[in-house]
Amino acid sequence: MAYFDNNATTPPREVALRAHEVALREDWRNPSSPTIVAARVRAKLEKTREELAAFLGCAAGSLCFTSGATEANNAVFAHLARKATDDQRVLLSPTEHPSVREAANRYFPGRVKQLSVNGSGVVSSQEASQTLTDGSYAAVSVMAANNETGVLQPWSELASLCAERGVAYHCDATQWIGKLPIDGLSECDYLTASAHKFGGLKGIGILKAPEDFSFIVGGEQESGRRAGTENYPAIASMLAALRESLENDQARVLEKARNAFEQRLIESFSGIRIVGAEVNRLWNTSSLLMPDFDNLRWVGKLEKLGHEISTGSACSSGIESESSVAVALGLTVVEARRIVRVSGSFDTLPGDWEDLAEAFLLAHQELSAGSGSLEVVSV
Ligand code: PMP
Repeated sequence: MAYFDNNATTPPREVALRAHEVALREDWRNPSSPTIVAARVRAKLEKTREELAAFLGCAAGSLCFTSGATEANNAVFAHLARKATDDQRVLLSPTEHPSVREAANRYFPGRVKQLSVNGSGVVSSQEASQTLTDGSYAAVSVMAANNETGVLQPWSELASLCAERGVAYHCDATQWIGKLPIDGLSECDYLTASAHKFGGLKGIGILKAPEDFSFIVGGEQESGRRAGTENYPAIASMLAALRESLENDQARVLEKARNAFEQRLIESFSGIRIVGAEVNRLWNTSSLLMPDFDNLRWVGKLEKLGHEISTGSACSSGIESESSVAVALGLTVVEARRIVRVSGSFDTLPGDWEDLAEAFLLAHQELSAGSGSLEVVSV
Protein backbone atom coordinates (compact mmCIF):
# COMPACT_ATOMS: atom_id res chain seq x y z
CA MET A 1 0.00 0.00 0.00
CA ALA A 2 1.50 3.38 -0.99
CA TYR A 3 0.90 5.98 1.70
CA PHE A 4 0.07 9.50 0.52
CA ASP A 5 -1.55 10.94 3.64
CA ASN A 6 1.50 12.25 5.46
CA ASN A 7 -0.09 15.61 6.29
CA ALA A 8 -2.58 13.67 8.45
CA THR A 9 0.17 11.69 10.15
CA THR A 10 3.48 10.07 9.29
CA PRO A 11 4.63 6.53 10.03
CA PRO A 12 7.01 6.64 13.01
CA ARG A 13 10.64 6.66 11.93
CA GLU A 14 12.79 3.68 12.98
CA VAL A 15 15.07 5.99 14.98
CA ALA A 16 12.04 7.37 16.80
CA LEU A 17 10.74 3.91 17.64
CA ARG A 18 14.17 2.82 18.87
CA ALA A 19 14.68 5.95 20.98
CA HIS A 20 11.21 5.47 22.44
CA GLU A 21 11.78 1.85 23.33
CA VAL A 22 15.18 2.50 24.89
CA ALA A 23 13.80 5.35 27.00
CA LEU A 24 10.72 3.35 27.99
CA ARG A 25 12.92 0.49 29.18
CA GLU A 26 15.66 2.53 30.81
CA ASP A 27 14.30 6.00 31.56
CA TRP A 28 10.75 5.33 32.64
CA ARG A 29 11.06 6.91 36.06
CA ASN A 30 9.24 10.08 37.02
CA PRO A 31 11.71 12.91 36.30
CA SER A 32 10.46 14.68 39.45
CA SER A 33 11.22 11.79 41.84
CA PRO A 34 13.92 12.53 44.44
CA THR A 35 16.17 9.52 43.66
CA ILE A 36 19.47 9.67 41.80
CA VAL A 37 18.19 7.41 39.00
CA ALA A 38 15.18 9.69 38.50
CA ALA A 39 17.48 12.73 38.49
CA ARG A 40 19.28 11.11 35.54
CA VAL A 41 16.01 11.03 33.62
CA ARG A 42 15.43 14.68 34.58
CA ALA A 43 18.91 15.55 33.27
CA LYS A 44 18.23 13.69 30.00
CA LEU A 45 14.92 15.49 29.65
CA GLU A 46 16.63 18.87 30.01
CA LYS A 47 19.39 17.85 27.61
CA THR A 48 16.74 16.87 25.05
CA ARG A 49 15.00 20.21 25.55
CA GLU A 50 18.33 21.98 24.89
CA GLU A 51 18.95 20.01 21.70
CA LEU A 52 15.44 20.67 20.41
CA ALA A 53 15.83 24.36 21.30
CA ALA A 54 19.11 24.44 19.36
CA PHE A 55 17.33 23.02 16.28
CA LEU A 56 14.60 25.64 16.67
CA GLY A 57 17.11 28.42 17.36
CA CYS A 58 15.52 29.45 20.65
CA ALA A 59 16.34 29.35 24.36
CA ALA A 60 15.67 26.02 26.10
CA GLY A 61 13.68 27.94 28.73
CA SER A 62 11.15 28.99 26.11
CA LEU A 63 10.34 25.39 25.07
CA CYS A 64 7.51 23.53 26.68
CA PHE A 65 6.33 20.00 25.84
CA THR A 66 2.63 19.46 25.20
CA SER A 67 0.46 16.59 23.97
CA GLY A 68 0.58 18.06 20.45
CA ALA A 69 -0.29 21.08 18.37
CA THR A 70 -3.99 21.08 19.28
CA GLU A 71 -3.20 21.45 22.97
CA ALA A 72 -0.42 23.93 22.25
CA ASN A 73 -2.68 26.10 20.05
CA ASN A 74 -5.39 26.12 22.71
CA ALA A 75 -2.79 26.95 25.35
CA VAL A 76 -1.53 29.91 23.33
CA PHE A 77 -4.97 31.54 23.06
CA ALA A 78 -5.85 30.80 26.70
CA HIS A 79 -2.62 32.52 27.72
CA LEU A 80 -3.01 35.44 25.29
CA ALA A 81 -6.55 36.03 26.60
CA ARG A 82 -5.36 36.12 30.20
CA LYS A 83 -2.80 38.76 29.30
CA ALA A 84 -5.04 40.84 27.01
CA THR A 85 -7.42 43.59 28.02
CA ASP A 86 -11.17 42.95 27.56
CA ASP A 87 -11.36 44.88 24.30
CA GLN A 88 -8.24 43.57 22.60
CA ARG A 89 -8.67 41.44 19.48
CA VAL A 90 -6.72 38.77 17.61
CA LEU A 91 -6.01 38.70 13.88
CA LEU A 92 -6.04 35.34 12.06
CA SER A 93 -5.80 33.94 8.59
CA PRO A 94 -9.08 32.29 7.53
CA THR A 95 -7.23 29.10 6.59
CA GLU A 96 -5.96 28.28 10.09
CA HIS A 97 -6.39 24.77 11.47
CA PRO A 98 -9.58 24.40 13.60
CA SER A 99 -7.45 24.14 16.75
CA VAL A 100 -6.38 27.75 16.12
CA ARG A 101 -9.70 29.13 14.85
CA GLU A 102 -11.85 27.54 17.52
CA ALA A 103 -9.43 28.33 20.34
CA ALA A 104 -9.33 31.96 19.16
CA ASN A 105 -13.14 32.12 19.12
CA ARG A 106 -13.40 30.52 22.56
CA TYR A 107 -10.90 32.80 24.28
CA PHE A 108 -11.59 35.98 22.28
CA PRO A 109 -15.36 35.70 21.67
CA GLY A 110 -16.53 38.34 19.17
CA ARG A 111 -12.99 39.72 19.02
CA VAL A 112 -11.49 37.62 16.20
CA LYS A 113 -10.76 39.39 12.93
CA GLN A 114 -9.82 37.51 9.80
CA LEU A 115 -7.40 38.68 7.15
CA SER A 116 -8.40 38.19 3.54
CA VAL A 117 -6.51 35.75 1.30
CA ASN A 118 -5.74 35.67 -2.41
CA GLY A 119 -7.05 32.91 -4.68
CA SER A 120 -4.36 30.53 -3.42
CA GLY A 121 -5.04 31.15 0.26
CA VAL A 122 -2.07 33.43 1.01
CA VAL A 123 -2.51 36.40 3.37
CA SER A 124 -0.97 39.75 2.60
CA SER A 125 1.47 41.22 5.10
CA GLN A 126 0.55 44.70 3.77
CA GLU A 127 -3.05 44.13 4.80
CA ALA A 128 -1.88 42.84 8.20
CA SER A 129 0.28 45.95 8.56
CA GLN A 130 -2.65 48.27 7.78
CA THR A 131 -4.99 46.36 10.11
CA LEU A 132 -2.55 46.55 13.00
CA THR A 133 -2.31 50.36 12.83
CA ASP A 134 -5.45 50.76 14.93
CA GLY A 135 -3.61 49.35 17.95
CA SER A 136 -6.44 47.12 19.18
CA TYR A 137 -4.75 43.77 18.57
CA ALA A 138 -3.18 41.55 21.22
CA ALA A 139 -1.88 38.99 18.73
CA VAL A 140 -1.66 37.77 15.16
CA SER A 141 -1.86 34.07 14.32
CA VAL A 142 -0.93 32.89 10.84
CA MET A 143 0.32 29.36 10.17
CA ALA A 144 3.58 28.52 8.39
CA ALA A 145 2.21 25.94 5.92
CA ASN A 146 -1.36 24.90 5.28
CA ASN A 147 -2.31 21.31 6.07
CA GLU A 148 -4.84 21.01 3.22
CA THR A 149 -3.02 22.76 0.37
CA GLY A 150 0.60 22.98 1.54
CA VAL A 151 0.55 26.72 0.73
CA LEU A 152 3.18 28.73 2.64
CA GLN A 153 2.38 31.97 4.43
CA PRO A 154 4.72 34.99 4.79
CA TRP A 155 5.42 34.17 8.46
CA SER A 156 8.84 35.77 8.54
CA GLU A 157 7.47 39.15 7.36
CA LEU A 158 4.57 38.85 9.80
CA ALA A 159 6.93 38.04 12.68
CA SER A 160 9.01 41.17 11.93
CA LEU A 161 5.91 43.30 11.52
CA CYS A 162 4.46 42.13 14.83
CA ALA A 163 7.79 42.69 16.59
CA GLU A 164 7.84 46.30 15.28
CA ARG A 165 4.28 46.89 16.46
CA GLY A 166 4.70 45.19 19.86
CA VAL A 167 1.98 42.64 18.97
CA ALA A 168 2.49 38.95 19.84
CA TYR A 169 2.88 36.63 16.84
CA HIS A 170 1.81 32.97 16.93
CA CYS A 171 2.76 30.61 14.13
CA ASP A 172 1.32 27.11 13.88
CA ALA A 173 4.29 25.41 12.25
CA THR A 174 2.88 21.89 12.47
CA GLN A 175 3.16 21.20 8.74
CA TRP A 176 6.43 23.08 8.24
CA ILE A 177 8.66 21.58 10.92
CA GLY A 178 10.25 18.39 9.63
CA LYS A 179 9.64 19.27 5.98
CA LEU A 180 11.47 22.58 5.47
CA PRO A 181 14.44 24.28 7.18
CA ILE A 182 13.53 25.72 10.56
CA ASP A 183 15.77 28.82 10.19
CA GLY A 184 14.10 31.95 11.46
CA LEU A 185 11.00 30.32 12.94
CA SER A 186 12.24 31.25 16.41
CA GLU A 187 11.42 34.88 15.47
CA CYS A 188 7.81 33.93 16.23
CA ASP A 189 6.82 34.63 19.83
CA TYR A 190 4.68 31.50 19.95
CA LEU A 191 5.42 28.44 17.84
CA THR A 192 3.51 25.16 17.87
CA ALA A 193 4.10 21.72 16.33
CA SER A 194 3.34 17.99 16.65
CA ALA A 195 5.90 15.16 16.55
CA HIS A 196 3.74 12.73 14.57
CA LYS A 197 3.89 15.02 11.52
CA PHE A 198 7.64 14.41 11.19
CA GLY A 199 8.03 10.75 12.07
CA GLY A 200 7.65 11.03 15.85
CA LEU A 201 4.84 9.64 17.96
CA LYS A 202 1.33 10.91 18.48
CA GLY A 203 0.54 12.70 21.72
CA ILE A 204 3.71 14.77 21.98
CA GLY A 205 4.39 18.25 20.67
CA ILE A 206 6.36 21.44 21.05
CA LEU A 207 5.35 24.87 22.20
CA LYS A 208 7.77 27.77 22.09
CA ALA A 209 6.40 30.59 24.23
CA PRO A 210 7.63 33.55 26.28
CA GLU A 211 8.77 32.61 29.79
CA ASP A 212 5.64 34.02 31.47
CA PHE A 213 3.51 31.45 29.62
CA SER A 214 1.40 29.19 31.82
CA PHE A 215 -1.42 26.84 30.93
CA ILE A 216 -2.02 23.64 32.92
CA VAL A 217 -1.67 24.05 36.68
CA GLY A 218 -1.30 21.37 39.35
CA GLY A 219 2.42 20.64 39.43
CA GLU A 220 5.84 22.16 38.99
CA GLN A 221 6.70 20.26 35.81
CA GLU A 222 7.82 22.33 32.83
CA SER A 223 8.65 25.15 35.28
CA GLY A 224 5.00 25.20 36.36
CA ARG A 225 3.85 26.14 32.85
CA ARG A 226 2.34 22.81 31.90
CA ALA A 227 1.79 20.55 34.87
CA GLY A 228 1.72 16.75 34.53
CA THR A 229 4.41 14.06 34.51
CA GLU A 230 6.60 14.56 31.47
CA ASN A 231 6.54 11.82 28.82
CA TYR A 232 10.31 11.55 28.46
CA PRO A 233 10.28 8.51 26.12
CA ALA A 234 8.02 10.34 23.65
CA ILE A 235 10.14 13.49 23.96
CA ALA A 236 13.37 11.53 23.31
CA SER A 237 11.78 9.94 20.26
CA MET A 238 10.60 13.33 18.99
CA LEU A 239 14.19 14.61 19.05
CA ALA A 240 15.40 11.51 17.16
CA ALA A 241 12.68 12.02 14.52
CA LEU A 242 13.37 15.72 14.10
CA ARG A 243 17.13 15.21 13.85
CA GLU A 244 16.68 12.67 11.07
CA SER A 245 14.14 14.73 9.14
CA LEU A 246 16.40 17.79 9.23
CA GLU A 247 19.27 15.73 7.81
CA ASN A 248 17.29 14.91 4.67
CA ASP A 249 18.16 17.09 1.67
CA GLN A 250 15.92 15.42 -0.93
CA ALA A 251 13.11 18.01 -0.87
CA ARG A 252 14.05 19.49 -4.28
CA VAL A 253 14.17 16.07 -5.98
CA LEU A 254 10.87 15.07 -4.42
CA GLU A 255 9.26 18.35 -5.36
CA LYS A 256 10.12 17.59 -9.00
CA ALA A 257 8.49 14.16 -8.68
CA ARG A 258 5.37 15.75 -7.16
CA ASN A 259 5.30 18.33 -9.97
CA ALA A 260 5.64 15.61 -12.63
CA PHE A 261 2.70 13.79 -11.01
CA GLU A 262 0.62 16.98 -11.21
CA GLN A 263 1.65 17.56 -14.83
CA ARG A 264 0.56 14.03 -15.77
CA LEU A 265 -2.84 14.67 -14.18
CA ILE A 266 -3.20 18.08 -15.86
CA GLU A 267 -2.53 16.41 -19.23
CA SER A 268 -5.00 13.63 -18.48
CA PHE A 269 -7.97 15.41 -16.90
CA SER A 270 -9.36 18.51 -18.53
CA GLY A 271 -10.76 20.91 -15.94
CA ILE A 272 -8.52 19.73 -13.07
CA ARG A 273 -7.12 22.50 -10.85
CA ILE A 274 -4.09 22.28 -8.58
CA VAL A 275 -4.86 24.49 -5.59
CA GLY A 276 -1.96 26.78 -4.71
CA ALA A 277 0.13 25.86 -7.77
CA GLU A 278 0.80 29.58 -8.43
CA VAL A 279 2.49 30.21 -5.06
CA ASN A 280 5.13 28.68 -2.78
CA ARG A 281 3.97 25.34 -1.41
CA LEU A 282 5.28 22.42 0.59
CA TRP A 283 7.18 20.04 -1.70
CA ASN A 284 5.12 17.05 -0.56
CA THR A 285 1.52 18.26 -0.99
CA SER A 286 -0.90 18.28 -3.89
CA SER A 287 -4.40 19.64 -3.41
CA LEU A 288 -6.36 18.57 -6.48
CA LEU A 289 -9.73 19.97 -7.45
CA MET A 290 -10.95 17.08 -9.58
CA PRO A 291 -13.23 17.76 -12.57
CA ASP A 292 -15.71 15.15 -11.39
CA PHE A 293 -16.69 12.67 -8.66
CA ASP A 294 -16.89 13.35 -4.95
CA ASN A 295 -13.60 13.12 -3.10
CA LEU A 296 -14.68 10.16 -0.94
CA ARG A 297 -15.24 8.14 -4.11
CA TRP A 298 -11.69 8.94 -5.26
CA VAL A 299 -10.35 8.00 -1.83
CA GLY A 300 -12.26 4.71 -1.81
CA LYS A 301 -11.32 3.77 -5.35
CA LEU A 302 -7.64 4.65 -4.93
CA GLU A 303 -7.45 2.70 -1.69
CA LYS A 304 -8.72 -0.36 -3.54
CA LEU A 305 -5.96 0.26 -6.08
CA GLY A 306 -3.36 0.36 -3.29
CA HIS A 307 -2.94 4.09 -2.64
CA GLU A 308 -3.96 5.90 0.54
CA ILE A 309 -4.89 9.52 -0.09
CA SER A 310 -7.21 11.95 1.69
CA THR A 311 -10.00 14.43 1.12
CA GLY A 312 -8.18 17.29 2.81
CA SER A 313 -9.22 18.06 6.28
CA ALA A 314 -12.85 18.75 7.11
CA CYS A 315 -14.32 15.80 5.31
CA SER A 316 -11.68 13.31 6.36
CA SER A 317 -13.86 11.92 9.11
CA GLY A 318 -16.67 11.42 6.63
CA ILE A 319 -18.57 14.34 8.14
CA GLU A 320 -19.96 16.53 5.43
CA SER A 321 -18.91 19.92 6.66
CA GLU A 322 -17.27 22.37 4.36
CA SER A 323 -13.56 22.97 4.77
CA SER A 324 -12.77 26.49 5.95
CA VAL A 325 -9.90 26.51 3.47
CA ALA A 326 -12.32 25.79 0.62
CA VAL A 327 -14.58 28.59 1.87
CA ALA A 328 -11.64 31.00 2.09
CA LEU A 329 -10.65 30.11 -1.46
CA GLY A 330 -14.17 30.95 -2.62
CA LEU A 331 -14.99 27.41 -3.78
CA THR A 332 -18.57 26.24 -4.09
CA VAL A 333 -19.80 23.36 -1.92
CA VAL A 334 -19.71 21.07 -4.96
CA GLU A 335 -16.12 22.08 -5.74
CA ALA A 336 -15.06 21.68 -2.10
CA ARG A 337 -16.34 18.11 -2.18
CA ARG A 338 -14.20 17.36 -5.23
CA ILE A 339 -10.92 18.27 -3.54
CA VAL A 340 -8.54 15.43 -2.84
CA ARG A 341 -5.27 15.83 -0.94
CA VAL A 342 -2.16 13.85 -1.70
CA SER A 343 0.78 14.22 0.69
CA GLY A 344 4.05 12.33 0.32
CA SER A 345 7.10 12.12 2.57
CA PHE A 346 10.87 11.86 2.29
CA ASP A 347 10.30 8.12 1.78
CA THR A 348 8.02 8.62 -1.21
CA LEU A 349 10.10 7.80 -4.28
CA PRO A 350 9.62 9.40 -7.73
CA GLY A 351 8.32 6.00 -8.91
CA ASP A 352 5.61 6.09 -6.22
CA TRP A 353 4.37 9.42 -7.62
CA GLU A 354 4.37 7.93 -11.15
CA ASP A 355 2.38 4.90 -9.95
CA LEU A 356 -0.08 7.19 -8.20
CA ALA A 357 -0.68 9.18 -11.40
CA GLU A 358 -1.44 5.94 -13.27
CA ALA A 359 -3.77 4.87 -10.45
CA PHE A 360 -5.68 8.16 -10.78
CA LEU A 361 -6.19 7.44 -14.47
CA LEU A 362 -7.42 3.92 -13.76
CA ALA A 363 -9.62 5.14 -10.90
CA HIS A 364 -11.18 7.67 -13.25
CA GLN A 365 -11.91 5.01 -15.86
CA GLU A 366 -13.52 2.76 -13.26
CA LEU A 367 -15.53 5.56 -11.68
CA SER A 368 -16.70 6.68 -15.11
CA ALA A 369 -17.67 3.15 -16.03
CA GLY A 370 -19.88 3.22 -12.96
CA SER A 371 -18.13 0.27 -11.36
CA GLY A 372 -17.74 2.30 -8.20
CA SER A 373 -21.27 3.61 -8.03
CA LEU A 374 -22.64 1.01 -5.64
CA GLU A 375 -19.61 0.91 -3.39
CA VAL A 376 -19.89 1.80 0.26
CA VAL A 377 -16.95 4.08 0.96
CA SER A 378 -15.45 3.73 4.37
CA VAL A 379 -12.66 5.96 5.69
N1 PMP B 1 -2.19 22.45 13.08
C1 PMP B 1 -2.03 21.95 11.85
C2 PMP B 1 -1.61 22.87 10.74
C3 PMP B 1 -2.23 20.59 11.61
O1 PMP B 1 -2.06 20.10 10.38
C4 PMP B 1 -2.63 19.75 12.69
C5 PMP B 1 -2.89 18.28 12.47
N2 PMP B 1 -3.75 18.02 11.40
C6 PMP B 1 -2.78 20.33 13.96
C7 PMP B 1 -2.55 21.68 14.11
C8 PMP B 1 -3.17 19.50 15.14
O2 PMP B 1 -2.18 18.55 15.45
P1 PMP B 1 -2.48 17.38 16.49
O3 PMP B 1 -3.68 16.65 15.99
O4 PMP B 1 -1.25 16.55 16.48
O5 PMP B 1 -2.72 18.01 17.82
